[in-house]
Amino acid sequence: MCGIVGYIGRKTAAPIIIKGLKKLEYRGYDSFGIATIGSGIEICKHAGRISENARSALHLNGTIGIGHTRWATHGVPNDINAHPHTDCKNRIAIVHNGIIENYAILKRQLIARGHRFLSETDTEVIAHLIEENYKDNLLSAVQNIVPKLQGSFALLVISPEEERIIAARNASPLVIGIGDGEYFAASDMTPVLEYTERAVFLEDGDIASLSPANLEIYHGEKRVERSVELVDWSVEDTRKGGFAHYMLKEIYEQPQAFYDSTRTLDQETLPASVKKTSSVAIVACGSSFHAGLIFKYLLEETCGIPARIEYASEFKYFPPPVSCLVIGITQSGETADTLTALKQAKSHNCPTIAITNVPGSSVSRIADTTIFMRAGPEISVAATKSFIAQLAVLMQLVNLRSGEQFTKVLLHAHRAIEEVLLMDLSDAVSACKQAQSIFYVGRGPFYPVSLEGALKMKEISYIHAEGYAAGELKHGPFALLSKDTPVIAICMPDETYGVMISNIKEMKARGAPVIALGIEGDSELADIVDIFIPLPKTHKFVQILTSLVVFQLLAYHTAVALQRDVDKPRNLAKSVTVE
Ligand code: GLU
Repeated sequence: MCGIVGYIGRKTAAPIIIKGLKKLEYRGYDSFGIATIGSGIEICKHAGRISENARSALHLNGTIGIGHTRWATHGVPNDINAHPHTDCKNRIAIVHNGIIENYAILKRQLIARGHRFLSETDTEVIAHLIEENYKDNLLSAVQNIVPKLQGSFALLVISPEEERIIAARNASPLVIGIGDGEYFAASDMTPVLEYTERAVFLEDGDIASLSPANLEIYHGEKRVERSVELVDWSVEDTRKGGFAHYMLKEIYEQPQAFYDSTRTLDQETLPASVKKTSSVAIVACGSSFHAGLIFKYLLEETCGIPARIEYASEFKYFPPPVSCLVIGITQSGETADTLTALKQAKSHNCPTIAITNVPGSSVSRIADTTIFMRAGPEISVAATKSFIAQLAVLMQLVNLRSGEQFTKVLLHAHRAIEEVLLMDLSDAVSACKQAQSIFYVGRGPFYPVSLEGALKMKEISYIHAEGYAAGELKHGPFALLSKDTPVIAICMPDETYGVMISNIKEMKARGAPVIALGIEGDSELADIVDIFIPLPKTHKFVQILTSLVVFQLLAYHTAVALQRDVDKPRNLAKSVTVE
């Protein structure tokens, strides 16, 4: 969610920062800004997209600079609230990701001491606090004020009086890229990869001083060493590669992502906590929650291991009485709610495992064990390949705990995914694009598949869509059925087939057009529905995957038909680093 970029070295900072901010656009933002050290502090900031306003920042001088994409939490998105923010005397400029929870009281105190505030943001208190503490050493000033801040922050600070950038982190991601005579600071590695693959991931409580010649890291007041890590994602991995949108590219990368991600685990690397656990709790948000719910169904059905799943945002404030293995699932590894839930689980002495896509991300420093899926960088806001990669890891966990009953199934699953990528969905897209509202229904593990299908549709097409366990529709939502409300049903030849057919007939009787996903050759189903989408005949695990891929493509093509901003849907952010 939102992003920051800093540069210090021999090159002109502004173009590097603009380029870096563009790479972070996928995280979601509503305004952006840059400050450099030229003749004093030079600032350019605007509400809106970088591409529309970037030229106005190119005149900024100097080889030291900081930049920001803002996802407003306090104060509307406008030019004034955009970062960077400065102090009363224009001696320092700062950019901040996160939320200062105690800003209101700090602001009142600062105003009482004579400070003038220009913006409505929580962030501006930091600038004024630093101002009060800044004599001749910017590092000490930041070290002095950080203990006063409650909440989350990744912070960059510059002053024309010093040739350095001060960076501080608490519960918001911040990575330092190490170049040759130059340093980069950024919310993740995507802006940095072009220049270097060497990076230091700051920890909560770290404050760093970056000058062209060296990097010093302090934990509070104490000097510390942090290891340099190599991040070998290629720049090409983060480009569109000829596809119209990142989302489509990422959908097409799923066979590979699934194949690679199942290989992250075998009996040897299976964490001991998974081997011996007799029950599991899962914490996650959004799509990751749906992956967790699919896992719950599969684990309980095939291994008889009871699993509960909680929204991470609920778990934090209402922790259930768990004493089992807690698994946190987060694509970015930075999802604030999931991080907090895992910390909470640890404080109850539960063993913890994180499943994430991003090496070096915060979750890997919180959980006892981290399993990295191998989806590669995902740029589009809507999760696709990271979701399929989560399922690869989770299905592999089920496989390993069940005596490897599904090894062959998992080995060949990517072929079925490839097959559905080429499917013609134009009839279903025509039905969906004019809908007021769409219901997705399924039973068993296909219920969370329905939830995910509906989430994908609403987030990128802006059509209202809801997922339901198929039996629930008659307990209320039937009142909404009409010819403008298509129902998309997953009807596989399993123990629920008969009851699903009855449910579909009930929906049709109430006037709703029905689109059904079933197995190829199912003429009974094809005959009763309006649009039949045949999937290859495969194992249940693979039916889950192929249904999901069809739902992603359906959402994608519907959003394109409605001319939506597919990769950057309104109001959303990729990496949700605030609660
Ligand atoms: N809370 C700050 C604001 O509203 C920073 C938001 C962000 O992380 O972009 O300005």
